[in-house]
Amino acid sequence: MNVIVVGAGIAGLSTAWSLVKAGHSVSIVEQGPIPNPLAASGDHHRIIRRAYRAGTGYGRLITEAYQAWDEMWADLGESHLDARGFVCISREPGDEAEEYREGLEEGNFPFELLEPDAAVERWPFLEAGSFRYAY
Ligand SMILES: Cc1cc2nc3c(=O)[nH]c(=O)nc-3n(C[C@H](O)[C@H](O)[C@H](O)COP(=O)(O)OP(=O)(O)OC[C@H]3O[C@@H](n4cnc5c(N)ncnc54)[C@H](O)[C@@H]3O)c2cc1C
Repeated sequence: MNVIVVGAGIAGLSTAWSLVKAGHSVSIVEQGPIPNPLAASGDHHRIIRRAYRAGTGYGRLITEAYQAWDEMWADLGESHLDARGFVCISREPGDEAEEYREGLEEGNFPFELLEPDAAVERWPFLEAGSFRYAY
């Protein structure tokens, strides 16, 4: 089938990549330059994380995203993912870091929780006494 994909952002290019792999012929129509600096995906930095609120299902979706990315890196012959992990810092009960920790627990995704002293030793840019825990 001949398919026209509108937009050469990350969604358009990923869709085109999948369609081509499925045997379709694809044309991409983009209104600006490629990459378009005005597109949401038009720069070089994004993070990906499993830490989302419980009940959203995002953590599970990230598993699917990683699988798709691995397939894409394999097709490209190189990975553009800098898999360096991330740190969340809870400063108040019920803050976003706490909610995200609950989401990780709900999905059984592993993380390492550090009490303040251990966290400061590991990440010296943290200020002791200013947070409850880090993971
Ligand atoms: C500053 C910023 C930081 C972000 N940080 C993160 C992050 O850390 N992690 C994360 O997961 N997400 C992040 N996001 C969100 C993520 O970047 C976007 O959800 C994603 O890039 C959207 O991709 P897209 O392909 O749908 O849209 P876009 O990248 O905007 O692509 C749409 C393309 O379609 C073209 N287009 C539109 N209309 C037409 C038309 N009629 N004809 C022809 N072409 C058309 C546009 O020119 C554009 O090139 C961030 C977004 C921003 C702006």
